[in-house]
Amino acid sequence: MSLIVMKFGGTSVGNPERVRQAAQIVADASREHRVVVVVSAFSGVTDAIIETVNVALSGKAPDAQLQKLEQRHHGAIAELFPPPKRAVVENEVDDVLRRFREFCSALTLLRSATPQVMDVALALGEKMSSRILAAYLHEFGVNGEYVDAARVVITDDKFGNASPEMDATRQQSQQVLLPMLEHGRVPVVTGYAGVTANGRPTTLGRGGSDFSATILGAAIGADEIWIWTDVDGVLNADPRVCPRASTLPEITYAEAIELSYYGAKVIHPKAIRPAMDLGIPVWIKNSFQPHVPGTKIVTSVQPTHSPVKAVSVVTKASLVTLSTRQNLDSAEIFGRLFLRLGHEHVDVLFSTQSSSENALGLVLRQENTDHVVQ
Ligand code: ASP
Ligand code: MG
Repeated sequence: MSLIVMKFGGTSVGNPERVRQAAQIVADASREHRVVVVVSAFSGVTDAIIETVNVALSGKAPDAQLQKLEQRHHGAIAELFPPPKRAVVENEVDDVLRRFREFCSALTLLRSATPQVMDVALALGEKMSSRILAAYLHEFGVNGEYVDAARVVITDDKFGNASPEMDATRQQSQQVLLPMLEHGRVPVVTGYAGVTANGRPTTLGRGGSDFSATILGAAIGADEIWIWTDVDGVLNADPRVCPRASTLPEITYAEAIELSYYGAKVIHPKAIRPAMDLGIPVWIKNSFQPHVPGTKIVTSVQPTHSPVKAVSVVTKASLVTLSTRQNLDSAEIFGRLFLRLGHEHVDVLFSTQSSSENALGLVLRQENTDHVVQ
């Protein structure tokens, strides 16, 4: 039996009907494969957590926000589970919400939160969605088991944007997940989250559940990674801009990195690397249309008749042109500029250099522009 890590994004578990569909997909797959599931928070929940924290940081009690989070999860639980089971799952979710309430009341006093403190709150949405899906799998006869990512994904301490320590992650994931699989269970791991070697919670950056899936896929030597989302795969253009856009059946890891970096929102740019390093195929699939094959991301693909595979759009960018006086060594000045931009972790999306005019053109993300010009 092959080993598949499959990840469900926020919209693929966004409401009770979607959770039901996700469970059906897992149940179908687990008849043929050994399956590890990774789950995002319900759509919009991570944003709601940030909003709640911000209210607390302003010194006010975020009661209304907390109540909305509770209603969203309780509502889903009420629709999905029959009464005795409902109380059990509700209790698990209430534990998470209780911790979040305490966290917020501490913030109303402290009025500040470091990225390290924020990471404690940011990953709470996944702790609720994963518990709900793990419990709900049992309704489909699948032995789902909730796994906190803190048991399996070990990261550095770049809070809010952590990277995996692969050796430790491999060891932990194999130790925790493989025995579960051997006993016919389906681990349901919280996406987006990790933990440092000394036990402090981290997150992998917004949209990081894709990264969780490929990290775990690489760590346990999965045969394939399936990313369930709300589009048919990687499209050759943004369908809102270009209605005739169509799905690409196959692209390379390098093309997927390029497309996601330049604005195609189909997979987190950092998520490709762990799969690419081991040549594990990554499928992008539509949980709303599970019979559609989707896009397969692999090492190399057959050449196509058109050299242009896809077009993506980067919005909110600016073009900055710099020129030097003729008598200055522009190569040296531009070299120093790039060194400095690197130190400041500024993304240069694109650059051109023209020696005849001693000019350099930089395309920057808009949010970095003022800083760079300064
Ligand atoms: N819930 C997290 C976010 O909204 C991670 C994810 O969905 O992948 O960024
Ligand atoms: Mg996402």
